Order: sequence, then C-alpha cells, then structure tokens
Amino acid sequence: MFVDVHCHLEMLENLDSIIKECVSKGTKKVVSASVDLNSMKKNIELSKKFNEIECCLGLHPSNILLMKEKEISDSIEFLQENLFFAKAIGEIGLDFKHADSEEKKQKQIKFYKKQLEIVEQNNLPVVVHSRFAEKKSLEILSSFNGKVLLHWFDGNKKAFEEGIKKNYFFSVGPAILFNKDYLQKTLLVPPENLMLETDSPVEFAGKKAVPWWVKKVAEKLSEEKKIPLKEIEEKTTKNALNFFNLNS
Ligand SMILES: [Zn+2]
Repeated sequence: MFVDVHCHLEMLENLDSIIKECVSKGTKKVVSASVDLNSMKKNIELSKKFNEIECCLGLHPSNILLMKEKEISDSIEFLQENLFFAKAIGEIGLDFKHADSEEKKQKQIKFYKKQLEIVEQNNLPVVVHSRFAEKKSLEILSSFNGKVLLHWFDGNKKAFEEGIKKNYFFSVGPAILFNKDYLQKTLLVPPENLMLETDSPVEFAGKKAVPWWVKKVAEKLSEEKKIPLKEIEEKTTKNALNFFNLNS
C-alpha cells in the first residue's frame, strides 16, 4: 500500500468517489494538512468520516499573512483544544514568496515559532512548508527537538544535505515528474528519509492532482534511483506509518 502524506482533501469535491478510487489503486492512507481555521474544522470532520483519512492541524504561513492577530490567536486556541485529532502539526513554516516585506516575514516567523512550541509541548511530529526560505526554516528548526517532515522542500543541494544529516524526512510529489532540478535534489534523499505526497488539489501540467498519483511518484523514484518499486513502496509507507503513528 501507498500513503499520500500531504494533500488538502478539504479542497476536493466528490471525496467519496476519490477515496474509493484511492483504495482500489492501493493508496490506503491519506494525510490531509490544514492551512487555516476553516480547513482545520473540515479536516477533523473528514478524519472522523473516513478511516482512510488522517489530519494535521496548523496554520500555513501564507494564510497567516491574510489573518488579523486576533483571528490567528483564536485559530491557535482551536488547534490546542483539538490536538486529540491531529496526527501532526502542519502545515506550518515560512513562505517568503508571499511574504514580500520584512514585516510580513517577521509575522510568519513569530507564528512558526509559536506553533513549533505547541508541537514540542505535545510531543507531536511537525510538517513544515518552506518556500524561498530554506535558510531561516532550517535555522529555526535547529533548536527544535522532534520529528520533522519537510514537505515539497525547495532548498538548494546544501539545504537538502543538512536536512538529511539531521534525519528529517522529505515528502516528494508530482513535481519530480516535471521539474528536473527538483528531481535531482530529491535523489539525494535516501529511502530511509523519503515519503510520498501529492499536495492535491495542486495542479501539475494543467491537471488537478489526486492522492493516488503517489504511485506515479514512486514509479519515477524507482526508475531514477534504480531501486525496485516494491522497496520504494514499503520504505515510504513504513516511514509514513511510523512518523504519524498510524495503523495500516
Ligand atoms: Zn500543502
């Protein structure tokens, strides 16, 4: 079986049929990440409704920029009251593509650190989003003790190597099918640190991703890494189940 460790199921329509198709195609667990208060509420409901769906709770750095401080503190309060449902905190982090001023960067950094404190206090794993911000993201993580998953990490080769050395996990998605530079960097990651994701419903080549595309990602990794598909499947699934503390 495969696990899609990072997508946004609350943004997908026709979930009943999508989950059915996931199961029939071997993707038997799907982890839905949250970005704001509304998505946290929806993901909790989905995780209650479907055995195949697990949820992460957290505030995305780009969403943080759209929120007033009061809205953010109310959302963080909701997060803390509903930790029972969360398999991890995520996705949290930094997105300097969207934070185009020092003030906006500082706002993201403040709530990234705040949410990391909650992660540590509750001994949960964390799913980190980092875009155009690899140095700062890793610097802040260096004082964090716990399990880290870097989702669709866009750092340079050196940043990848640093993350691997720290034993962070990397979830790799359909971007490897379209972006050679990203593919090359993901090939640095040993199978012991790899997981599969789709970030559905993000579009690739004009098509909205769906969770069972993780198999295509695994096939590409198998071909490029010259490792049997079965081994990629087993290792990434084992990593995912351990990381999120899930039963298969
Ligand atoms: Zn995402």
